[in-house]
This record gives sequence, structure tokens and C-alpha cells, in this order.
Amino acid sequence: MLKLNSDHYDDVSKGRQLSRPVLVVGAGPVGLTAALMLARHGTPVRIIDSNASKTELSKALIVWKRTLQVLDPIIPWEQFLNGHILAKRAIFLHDGKKIATLAFDSANQCIPQGVFIPQSATEELLISSLQSYGVQVERETKLIDFKCDESGVMCSLSTGDSFETSWLIGCDGAHSTVRHKLKIEFPGSTINRRWILADVELDGDTPEESLIMEQGSGGTLGFFPISTNRWRLIADDGPYEDGVTYEEPTFKDIKNIIEAKSSMRCSLRCTHWISQFSVNERQVENYVHGRVLLAGDAAHVHSPAGGQGMNTGIQDAVNLAWKVSLVEMGVASPDFLNTYQEERHPIGSMVVKNSGRMLKAAMIDNPVLSAIQRIGMHFALQIPFVHDQISSFLSEDSVNYRGCSLAATAKGKYRPGDIFPDFKWGECSATNLLRANEASHICAKEENSLRLGFGGFEVTNIVSPELIEIFGGDVLIRPDGVIAAIGESNINCWIDKISNSY
Ligand SMILES: Cc1cc2nc3c(=O)[nH]c(=O)nc-3n(C[C@H](O)[C@H](O)[C@H](O)COP(=O)(O)OP(=O)(O)OC[C@H]3O[C@@H](n4cnc5c(N)ncnc54)[C@H](O)[C@@H]3O)c2cc1C
Repeated sequence: MLKLNSDHYDDVSKGRQLSRPVLVVGAGPVGLTAALMLARHGTPVRIIDSNASKTELSKALIVWKRTLQVLDPIIPWEQFLNGHILAKRAIFLHDGKKIATLAFDSANQCIPQGVFIPQSATEELLISSLQSYGVQVERETKLIDFKCDESGVMCSLSTGDSFETSWLIGCDGAHSTVRHKLKIEFPGSTINRRWILADVELDGDTPEESLIMEQGSGGTLGFFPISTNRWRLIADDGPYEDGVTYEEPTFKDIKNIIEAKSSMRCSLRCTHWISQFSVNERQVENYVHGRVLLAGDAAHVHSPAGGQGMNTGIQDAVNLAWKVSLVEMGVASPDFLNTYQEERHPIGSMVVKNSGRMLKAAMIDNPVLSAIQRIGMHFALQIPFVHDQISSFLSEDSVNYRGCSLAATAKGKYRPGDIFPDFKWGECSATNLLRANEASHICAKEENSLRLGFGGFEVTNIVSPELIEIFGGDVLIRPDGVIAAIGESNINCWIDKISNSY
């Protein structure tokens, strides 16, 4: 039998009404996700942003599979695809010749590897979901300063308010006020290279559902689809030179870049957004500072190669929110939040490292090295294992928390610390079973002692002997879609561990 201490449950469920609102600073994609996930667990939350409105810019253009998966219980992945573009493949060209294709296949899986959707549209989905929980973003409200002690964080806002919160979650982007006020380092480097970015409309012959990376004597150029005939262009403009003043690029500059560097048979119709940027590769050493927590760009920034920035940040927020809720309910002690650092910091480090490698590959100027790289890529991407490794790195499908303290060691295809898998189950994905659930429990019969929830979370029973056979036992699935434990006794141990060890 699975254990349940109902007195404890009564205490913690009361805690849902008692706690002070958590303050989320920043209503970019990461802050919106953090607030949404807290609201979903009934944890009172305020979310503020210094801007008057959400971004209208396309910024992060691709939502990868793992992000679709972790948001799916609240925002079904089909909503991201609705009106947007399925990411089917990346095509690599050199001087107009195709070197390799990376197909984003999902054999026997339902959730796409990626969807091209502008960040503005992603934020819209998050905002509308957040509003359905009765939470509004407080705009034109800037965090000015805060003081933190063991019992709470006193925050000063630009509105003149002082506000005491139990937890301050800094999702305030690369120039984070929260990080600055913590006076912590943001170690890493800035790459001395100018990149040009433009959202453009093109006339002519352009491939569908594909991102195009072109390399050649003119340098590197990438095209990412936004909508029919509308593309994001990113071009490497080479190292910054001393004494040169770099103006904002113009329509004419973009036209020249396409004519000089692209082999696509297309011409520039108009531009919607033009910008220039340098790449920073940085990560804070610790995401947890007492009652102040960092997530997203506030904690890590890196090259846009691979489109991982927003995705990694959203996944940080999903990992963090249920843990904060559990601590707020009084089920786990604040030490439990160290598992956020333990699980997410290594993922951030890996993303900084791997996206940096991709950027370096795109910046190779030496013709010999470039030729070696082309040949290597041509052959490597034909090896199914290498192809799948790269594809699953990009879609973050390979991310797991095996070996972390919340995931007991186990054998088998599916293990604690893995995301609940996306295999076909009837007409749809097995992940559909988790939709709208706070946490889930695959079990043999409806009547079992977990029905009232672990901690204060409501656990939905999924009664399925077939799934038990696939996983090798009952399965408890965390609110972030990660397998907590497999087998009745392991599930009991996991629940005990959360309430007794932290
Ligand atoms: C020009 C550009 C192009 C990009 N292209 C890509 C791409 O192609 N692929 C990709 O993956 N990523 C891209 N990114 C990065 C991606 O946009 C970020 O990784 C993502 O937005 C991070 O989300 P976030 O919520 O952590 O931070 P942000 O989106 O930066 O949001 C932070 C929010 O905090 C608010 N804020 C800041 N300080 C305060 C304060 N003191 N008080 C209250 N509010 C505050 C800001 O107003 C902002 O709304 C791009 C970014 C830029 C700027």
C-alpha cells in the first residue's frame, strides 16, 4: 500500500491559502512560465515587469520538443503549432551546394521536435494561460532593490510600494537587476564578433519548414522561417575592428548581405526588424541564493546557435515552480530548492558549452578547417547515431536528471529522472495522459492511498495495467513531467524523502 499521512495533507493544503505571494520579476517567457506554474499549484504569485507591454519582436524563434512537453499539461503542444511552422529539417549549404540535412524526425512519437513560432506569440500563449488562473502581469513596475533575510525578502518597487515576499524569483533577463543586487559574478566571456539580425520578407524560391545554414567565401548566413515568405536572417559580419563605428544596419545592408552571401533564389521585399548583436557566454555559479532564485537569461546567456536560450529558461522555470510551491506549502524545507540548482545548473552549463561550439563551427574562417568541417559534417550526419544525438541535443530530448538526488538509481529503458516519454498511445501521445494533472500516478486500480496527493499536490490516477507493464511498476510523475519513482515501495520512499529529508 502507498502511504499517506492525512493530517499532514490537511496542514499543507491549508498552507496554500496562508502563504505570502511569491514575487516573479520579469514577464519574459521565463517569468511568465514561473508565474503560470506557481499559479497552477495554487501558490499566490505576483509578476511584475518594467516594460509597458509584452515584446512584439520575434526574438527566440523556435520552441523545441522538451519545452513543448513540459508545458503540455497546461498548454497542449498543438496550440504552439496552430498557425505556425513545424520544424522539419535543417539544411546546410556551402557555396550553394547541399552538404548535409538534419531531419527533425519523430518516428513513433507524436510531439514535434520543434515549432517555429515567434517569441511574441509564445508569450501570448503564456499570458493567456496565466490570465485563466486570474493572474495579471503588473506592467511598468520595476524592481529597484531588495533585502533578504531568513524569513523573507523585502522588495522596493518603482511604484513606490514596498512589498514583502517569501521568495523572489529573478527572471529579469541578461541585465538582471536581481543578479546585480545580489552582487554575484556572471563569469564567462563576450565573443568579439558582430552579428546582424533581420526579420525579412523574401520573394522567390524558398524551401518550406526548413532552417537554412549557408557557409561560403562570403561568411555564414542563417535563414529561419517565421511565416510564409517571412524569415529571420542572421549573418556573421566578422570580428569588430578597432576604431570602426558600427551603425545600425539598414535595408540596403541586408539586401547586400543576401546578394553577396546567399545562394537562395530569392530577393528582399522588405524588412520588419533589423538589429545587431554580440554573443555573451556566461553563467552564474549558483541559481539559489537563500530566498532569491535566478532563472533564464538572468542565470545564463549564450550563443543563439541552436536556439536554446528561451527553451532552457522555460524549463528552468518549470523545474523550479513546483519545488517552490512544495516549500511554500510547508511540505519540504527550503533546502529542497537546492535540487533546482543540482538539476538545472549542469543543463545550463551544457547549453553554454554546446551552443558555443556550434557558434565556433559557424565562424571558421580558415578554408582548410572549413573543408574538413564540411566533409566531417557530410558523413557524420549520415550516421543515424550521430544524427539522432545532434537532433536530440537541439530538441533537448536528451535532458534528464538521472543520478541527481531526487532520482533513485534504477535499470531499464525508462528511469527516475527521465521525462515521461512521448510514445504513441492509441491515437495520441502517452504524454496526453498527463494533461491538466498536477501530478500523475500510473497504477493498477483507482482505489489507492495516493489519491489525496503527495504533499499538497493533487495526484491523478491513470489506471493502466498495460503502462505498468511497460514501465515495470506503478509510476509517480512529478508536476514537471519527470518520472519521480517506479514501483510502489520506491514511490513511498520518494514521498518520504521529500517531506523528511529536506
Ligand atoms: C534581439 C534578440 C534576438 C534573440 N534571438 C533568439 C533566438 O533566435 N533564439 C533563442 O533561443 N533566443 C533568442 N534570444 C534570446 C531569448 O530572447 C532569451 O533567451 C529569452 O527571452 C530569455 O527569456 P527571459 O524571460 O529569461 O528574459 P527576457 O525575455 O529578457 O525577459 C526579461 C524581462 O524582465 C523585465 N525586467 C528587467 N529588469 C526588470 C526589473 N528590474 N524589474 C521588473 N522587470 C524587469 C524586462 O522588461 C523583460 O520583460 C534573442 C534575444 C534578443 C534580445
